[in-house]
Amino acid sequence: YNPKLADPTLYRQQSYIDGQWQDADSGATLDVLDPATGETIATVPMAGAAETRRAILAAEQALPAWKAKTAAERSRILQKWFQLLLQHKEDLARLMTLEQGKPLAESRGEIGYAASFIEWFAEEGKRAYGEVIPSPFSDRRLVVLKQPIGVCAAITPWNFPAAMITRKAAPALAAGCTMVVKPAELTPLSALALAELAGRAGIPAGVFNVVTGDPRAIGGELTSNPIVRKLSFTGSTEVGRLLMAQCAPTLKKLSLELGGNAPFIVFDDADVDAAVQGAIASKYRNSGQTCVCTNRFLVQAGIYDAFAKKLAEAAGQMKVGNGLEAGVVQGPLINEAAMQKAERLIADVKAKGGQVAVGGGRHALGGQWFQPTVLTGVTPQMDVAKQEIFGPVAPLFRFEDEQQAIAMANDTEFGLAAYLYTKDSARQWRVSEALEYGMVGVNTGMISTEVAPFGGIKNSGLGREGSRHGLDDYMELKYMAIGGV
Ligand code: ADP
Repeated sequence: YNPKLADPTLYRQQSYIDGQWQDADSGATLDVLDPATGETIATVPMAGAAETRRAILAAEQALPAWKAKTAAERSRILQKWFQLLLQHKEDLARLMTLEQGKPLAESRGEIGYAASFIEWFAEEGKRAYGEVIPSPFSDRRLVVLKQPIGVCAAITPWNFPAAMITRKAAPALAAGCTMVVKPAELTPLSALALAELAGRAGIPAGVFNVVTGDPRAIGGELTSNPIVRKLSFTGSTEVGRLLMAQCAPTLKKLSLELGGNAPFIVFDDADVDAAVQGAIASKYRNSGQTCVCTNRFLVQAGIYDAFAKKLAEAAGQMKVGNGLEAGVVQGPLINEAAMQKAERLIADVKAKGGQVAVGGGRHALGGQWFQPTVLTGVTPQMDVAKQEIFGPVAPLFRFEDEQQAIAMANDTEFGLAAYLYTKDSARQWRVSEALEYGMVGVNTGMISTEVAPFGGIKNSGLGREGSRHGLDDYMELKYMAIGGV
């Protein structure tokens, strides 16, 4: 297979361990498929526990020299990695669309977003300030240092094949930690291209490792090995819980960015066109396959019909197709299981009395294309109220007043992102404060940026990524009491 890259060496089909490209010990491989065509576009190593152990040892060996560098030295290397991502944006975007399916414009956007974390943490690493505590003892001085946690592991999902890696690796490396990454088995090519660029940027061997293969075997080693001091995971709540349990015996620090069930509340006083625009951005990005995608539209009775009509019109106009084609805004879903989940949820809505305003099933293109769908008359008794859809399906629930909207919005085990549209500034504050979520978008459907803390509460996870807080997740506090002064 030829991915037709300007720089063919970004197309890597081996794990990156201790600065070396390596096959699996057994020689076994794993096929990578293009979700648009079903074609095999690469084979990568089916590595397991033994290769992972070697990567962890390499990260351990690389740690002393990496953390001994000044933050400014690490920053200069990370800046180079950042520049290389931007220089190779077109190739990286193409690889991403090939393995993940998202439209090329979104892939370019993700590479920019992925790079932004590297630049941000290259800068923040220099600002890992400690503190001096006014001492209650006249002969003692009390200070707090921030130090890197040590060897870290990352397990990342397929929906953002590049950004979910840099969002973890950049703060880790900036802090002085080293890392072993296990990318999603569906999308390893972006991860391996990032490793190639890490090597070119001068990130020393062992500091950043990527092991592809069997999730259970690699995950088992990453979570049980006592050398690993922290695990950062982005993925489903179910797997997050399992990994947390696996980390318990060695008491690793954890960052977990898990599932969501985002409400998008539209009040009667909202600007309906702005709300529809925000709804499209929040619902249909990556064909609905992001953890902050709206899962439930809660629409006030007075604006319900107008909003439903306009949203259905806009959804019906979206161009569906291969993400490499110009003008396509909806790529294929990641696999057949995702198609069936969307179908199942729609069938449940219909069986319980809801209606299809537009779309409603598989697209005429066949394959893994699904029609952008809007459902009306949806109620809390339907499965879409509780389950993460992860597809281009927008269910519209109706509410009467603010209290009811808040209660409905919070009636979920999840607490990642929430959105609300209203022109009333007092209500913006009131509702934002009452929402049990880690992030709230007010009159916007786009909340992600490297400068703000991303993360959830309740069953959506632990920790924050991005912003100055994202660096703290990779540092330990050390308190020193200095006596005899
Ligand atoms: P999704 O439903 O989005 O695919 P998952 O939680 O299944 O989310 O996958 C996210 C990441 O977790 C992927 O890298 C996947 O390989 C990994 N993963 C899945 N199961 C396990 C497991 N048992 N141990 C370790 N990693 C796992």
